[in-house]
Amino acid sequence: MTHYKRFSIVITVFVVFMVNFGMCNPAAAPDEMKGEHPGRKKDHAKAPEIEKKYLLGHFDPASDGNFVKVKAPYAHRDHLYLLRDVYHAFIKMHKAAKADGISLVIISATRNFDYQKKIWQSKWTGRRRVDGKNLAKTVPDPVERARIILKYSAMPGTSRHHWGTDIDINSVNKAYFETGEGLKTYQWLVRHAGRFGFVQPYTPKGKDRPHGYEEEPWHWTYNPIAKIYTHQYRNKIRYEDITGFDGSETAPRIDVIKHYVLGINPACLKVPIEPKP
Ligand SMILES: [Zn+2]
Repeated sequence: MTHYKRFSIVITVFVVFMVNFGMCNPAAAPDEMKGEHPGRKKDHAKAPEIEKKYLLGHFDPASDGNFVKVKAPYAHRDHLYLLRDVYHAFIKMHKAAKADGISLVIISATRNFDYQKKIWQSKWTGRRRVDGKNLAKTVPDPVERARIILKYSAMPGTSRHHWGTDIDINSVNKAYFETGEGLKTYQWLVRHAGRFGFVQPYTPKGKDRPHGYEEEPWHWTYNPIAKIYTHQYRNKIRYEDITGFDGSETAPRIDVIKHYVLGINPACLKVPIEPKP
């Protein structure tokens, strides 16, 4: 049995366990995760241990057997990768959307630490302008500079895009989702994505979500698996793990884990209770 198959089966067993014990909303569980599974053992079901390198993005999805390439017509460009179960759930959602006249295309999927570091460094050093500003010149205070970048970009090692569970759909321009085709697409997702396991983690900021990134109507997460990642990230990752880029010393000062990694839609935070041995 390959490493991937083992990984996939353990995740499936765990999700079946959560659904059967009411630990996640069965209505939100994708079809292929319901029903009997040959490996299902209620008494022994336990969350698979996710290695820190997968939580932090220290791997290459192009050469890692846990990840599959997203093909046309599901991707708008080459070299996009997802966890296999996430990809299959997306294909089901894509078909259902198409039948309703809605086109869903993945424009960003798994981004590893190095990829995220390029985004972060370009904004930190001023090579890429943020709101028309060179932050290296206009915002000398490192905490303040990090907070501005954190409106929309994660620190390397803290992005949900490291996990292979999260996707950006159709456009990363908020205006696209406010009228016409984009609005119809967003309304379809709000209404139907949950049936396929997908949830919007970055909902509008407010009482339910006081901290974290700004609202992202394009960003959707495959919650049955992402929940497990979120839970283990909280348990395993410490600030000494978030390092290797400019401004990483600001992470504990901002409390990036509490306020950003966990600053998400509460529906993505309902963590499974670890079964007693
Ligand atoms: Zn995203």
